[in-house]
Amino acid sequence: MTTKRRGESAVLIVSGGMDSCVLSHYYAAAGFDLHLLSFNYGQKHVKELTYAERYISALRERYSNLEIQHQVVALPIAHLSPNSGSALLNPDQSMPHGHYTDDSMKATVVPYRNPNMLLQAATVAWNENARVVAFAAHYGDYAQYPDCRQEFVDAFNTMLNRAMDSDQVTVEVPFMRFSKAQIARFGASLDVPFELTWSCYEGGSEGFGDKHCGHCGTCVERYEAFKHAGVEDPTQYANDPELFLNIPGQRA
Ligand SMILES: [Zn+2]
Repeated sequence: MTTKRRGESAVLIVSGGMDSCVLSHYYAAAGFDLHLLSFNYGQKHVKELTYAERYISALRERYSNLEIQHQVVALPIAHLSPNSGSALLNPDQSMPHGHYTDDSMKATVVPYRNPNMLLQAATVAWNENARVVAFAAHYGDYAQYPDCRQEFVDAFNTMLNRAMDSDQVTVEVPFMRFSKAQIARFGASLDVPFELTWSCYEGGSEGFGDKHCGHCGTCVERYEAFKHAGVEDPTQYANDPELFLNIPGQRA
């Protein structure tokens, strides 16, 4: 992590998920003022943004000495991709069930999602004289999501530098070498309120209400992370994720 200068802020990209929540706590614990950006890009699980509001409210209470602002930014990714092959965007594409590392999870890739978001975040950072932009990609994202890899982040930082002929703003990814279980363990050490986070890609659309579905890739990944970390999982699952841990690529 970049060492904080007095009164410095960090611009963080946050979803409603546990990794983003841990990321927010990490930078708050380090004393950064936070400008948190969430994105409504037309995702089916837009419900996650409600959960982002919840854990950010709790974060503000805990770190009342910091300035913490949160904006939800609309990105027209789904609008511009009406025939998208992504199960996260297209209502006609069913959500793959099973383990997060299965090839079927490639169906959840949203093309250029992270570069879109990071460019908005860099614009905010430039305007606020902030040096740091961060997001919560981790090692488990590596296989399925090219825009979560270090190679992409390095290329993006080069682009930022060239675009303004300045190295003021740098994207950093502190969890790049962490497994999701390590994020869960780290979050537990920061007393992160995991119960205020939402991971499920189904977004409650299957009629499970406020329960996670328990069988989409990100539900299984979340369950597995808590299990491997030895951290209590406060999540209510509509289906037992244990049943889907070892079933490769099963679809509904
Ligand atoms: Zn789910």
